[in-house]
Amino acid sequence: MVFQNYINGEWVSGPTFDNRNPANTDEVVGQMVKGSAADIAAAADAADKAFGAWSTLPAPTRGNYLYKVADILDRKFDEISADMTREEGKTLPEAKGEVRRAINIFRYFAGEGSRMFGIQAPSERDRVHMFALRKPIGVVGLVTPWNFPSAIPAWKMAPALICGNTIVVKPASVAPLSAWRIVEACHEAGIPKGVVNYVAGSGGELGQALVDAKPLKAISFTGSCGVGEWLHERASKRRMRIQLEMGGKNPTIVLADCDFKSAVENTVNASFFSTGQKCTATSRAIVEDAIYDKFVEALVERTAKLKVGDGMQPGIDIGPAVDQGQLDTDLEYIEIGRKECGEPRIGGNRLTGGAYDKGYFVEPTIFADVTENMRIAREEIFGPVLAVIRASDFEDAMRIANNVPLGLSASVQTTNVSRVFEFIYRMEAGLLTVNLPSAGVEYQLPFGGTKDSSFGPKEQGPAALEFYSDYKTVYLKY
Ligand code: NAP
Repeated sequence: MVFQNYINGEWVSGPTFDNRNPANTDEVVGQMVKGSAADIAAAADAADKAFGAWSTLPAPTRGNYLYKVADILDRKFDEISADMTREEGKTLPEAKGEVRRAINIFRYFAGEGSRMFGIQAPSERDRVHMFALRKPIGVVGLVTPWNFPSAIPAWKMAPALICGNTIVVKPASVAPLSAWRIVEACHEAGIPKGVVNYVAGSGGELGQALVDAKPLKAISFTGSCGVGEWLHERASKRRMRIQLEMGGKNPTIVLADCDFKSAVENTVNASFFSTGQKCTATSRAIVEDAIYDKFVEALVERTAKLKVGDGMQPGIDIGPAVDQGQLDTDLEYIEIGRKECGEPRIGGNRLTGGAYDKGYFVEPTIFADVTENMRIAREEIFGPVLAVIRASDFEDAMRIANNVPLGLSASVQTTNVSRVFEFIYRMEAGLLTVNLPSAGVEYQLPFGGTKDSSFGPKEQGPAALEFYSDYKTVYLKY
C-alpha cells in the first residue's frame, strides 16, 4: 500500500520509498511518498492559511477534535500497534504501550483546551485590571525520530494543536507510518484542512526546506545531537523559536545498599529493552565497589535469559536494530569496546542463522571494567550495549555520572534516603528515577534533558504549553 503525504487536507502522491521491517527486510510494510522541498513549502503555506480560523476557535472546541483523534486511534489500536512493531522492530507489547501513551497524550492535551491558563496579577494602580493571555505562535514544524514513532509525534502534535498552532510534521524516514496513522486520524476527525500537514522524505532536504519556509515560526525537533545543532544554527539565524531534544549517555548508579534483585532487573530493563534504542536508556551502570563483582555476574546471568527476535512473536524481549545504519553503529562500538577493555562479558555479535539472517539482530552486550574516559563510556551508541564502571563510593559514582557532556536521564538504586536526595539535587540530568529503570516516563510531567542533551522549554505535561504558546499581556483601566 502507498501512504501519501497530507497537504492542505489532500492526500498527495509522488515518487515512493520502501518502509521495510527490520526484523525481516523482505517485508515491505508500506511505500511512503517521498516528499520534496516544494511539498514542505506547500504544506507551510497551507498551514499559514489555516492558522487564522484554527487559532480563533475556542480552545475547548479544538479539544473536542483531539478527543476524536484519540477515539479513532483507540478503535485502530491493534492495527496501529502491529504497524509499529513491523516498521520499528520493538516488541508488540512495547508497541501497544506506546500507542496507548499516544492516545492518552491526545486526551490529556484535549483537556488542556478547557484550562489553557494564563496569568492574572493584582495591579499596583487603582482600578487597573491586568492579565496575560496565552496565544498560539503560528505555523510550527515538527521533526521526529524513529525510536518512539507514535508517542513523540503525539507529544508534539497534541500540544501544538490545542494551543491553536497549525503544523507541518516531518517523521523519520525509517519509521514514518506510525506518525502517518495519527495524521490519518486527524483527517478522519475532521480537523479543518491545512491545520495538520505531513511530509515524509529525506531529513536533509526537508530540514533545509523547513528552515527556509517563511510561514514557519518555530521548530520542535527530537533526534541526534548533530542534526539538532545543524537545525539550531539555521533556525536561530531566522529567529525561529526552537526546541531540541537530543541524545543521552544515561547512567544508572548502583549502590551497595540497593535492593539487589530489583537493581539488576531495572538495569537490564533500562539497558536492553526496546533494543537499547530509548533516548532514556541506560548505557552506563556505575556500580559501587563493594558489590561490583557480584552485580556484574548477576547482570550477565539475567541478560543471558533475554530472547532476541521478531517482536511480533510472543515471548520475545528484544527486537532488532532499526536499520542497517544503527546495526553498523552498534557493531562498530562493540569493536571499539573490545579494543578499549577486552571481550564483553556477554554478547558482542550480530545474530545470524535462520530467521536472524533476514533482520538486524544484535546480542545484548555488556562490557565490564570500563573506565570513564573510554569512548564506550562517553559516546551515545543507541543500541543494546552496556558499559559497567566501578566506583569506589557514592561520591565517586556521582562524579563519574556527571562527567559527560550529555544529561538526559539518570537513575539511582539505593535504599538510603539521604543519598536519594543528594542524587536528586546534584545529578545533572533532566529526568531522574529512583529504584526504577532510567527509561519509562509518563506524559503528565515535563520531559527533557539538560546540558548538551536539550535546548529550549521542556516537552509534555503543563510545560509543553511554554513552547507552543506565547503570552499577550493586557492592562485595563475600568
Ligand atoms: P536523527 O538522525 O537526528 O533524525 C531525527 C529526525 O531529523 C528525522 O526525522 C530525520 O529525518 C530528521 N533529519 C535528518 N537530517 C535533518 C536535517 N538536516 N534537518 C532537519 N531534520 C533532519 O535521529 P534518529 O536517528 O531518528 O533518532 C535517534 C536519536 O534521537 C538519538 O540520538 C536519540 O538519543 C535521540 N532521541 C532523543 C530523544 C529525546 O527526547 N531527547 C527522544 C528520542 C530520540 P530522516 O529520518 O529522513 O533522516
